Amino acid sequence: RDAIRENQIVPYLQPIVDTDGKIVGAEALARWIHPTQGFMNPGSFIPMFEENGLIVDVDKHIWRTACKILGSWKATHPDKFISVNISPKDFFLTDVLSDIKAFAKEFDINPQNLRIEVTETSMMSNTDGRMKILEDFRKNDFIVEMDDFGSGYSSLNMLKDMPVDVLKIDMKFLGKTEDQERANKIVKNVIRLSDDLGILSLTEGVETEEQFEMLKQMGCTLFQGFYFSKPVPLKDLEGMIS
Ligand code: C2E
Ligand code: CA
Ligand code: CA
Repeated sequence: RDAIRENQIVPYLQPIVDTDGKIVGAEALARWIHPTQGFMNPGSFIPMFEENGLIVDVDKHIWRTACKILGSWKATHPDKFISVNISPKDFFLTDVLSDIKAFAKEFDINPQNLRIEVTETSMMSNTDGRMKILEDFRKNDFIVEMDDFGSGYSSLNMLKDMPVDVLKIDMKFLGKTEDQERANKIVKNVIRLSDDLGILSLTEGVETEEQFEMLKQMGCTLFQGFYFSKPVPLKDLEGMIS
């Protein structure tokens, strides 16, 4: 709690680009800049916070900061969006929609500029209730994204019912694989499938120019990965956008 209050936990922002490589938005990813332990990636603290329930405080802090940034961009970058992560635990511990609506109101932002990232794991329990929450997000003009698509056990089954605007294709499909040709065919057809469903596709973990070119050929429209940039502090992202 002290770490949150003292602003040790901050969002880094990873650019999301279009087919021209132009920055259209960014994903907010938590970093803990600890006074004695130094810089920490979420892998080393998010699981602990998910276990002890403090994740909801961390996430509210990140959601609010994202809204604050969008508020400060209203004059300079009115079209850029920020995506925030929702942990499965958040749905248990708080009213995610009311919280985010309140932050959006506090900074008077356009809800279209805030994207809500949800994994299928979040939808595993109380599925109908959570589908309804996502539907309500969309009714309030927020954009809903299905994160890590293809990495879980029932991605297709979830996609069947989940109200989403963007499909984020998991980076496992681009990473080292025994049979890369086979993985590529799956990605190509997932992009076609989302297109057919009227859902935008975003590929995560783009690390090379070859991957970027191939994904464009396949019809993907949004891209995120180290080839464009790693997650960076706000000032650096603003520099890149300019
Ligand atoms: P995620 O939501 O799937 O976020 C993408 C992760 O992939 C980030 O790791 C990002 O730095 C990394 N990444 C991006 N591009 C590339 C690439 O080209 N290659 C490779 N190898 N990796 C890439 P990060 O920041 O360490 O976050 C890990 C996970 O922690 C996130 O996965 C998300 O599930 C969770 N997380 C991060 N921030 C938050 C947060 O504020 N709240 C919650 N609830 N979870 C968070
Ligand atoms: Ca995410
Ligand atoms: Ca992801």
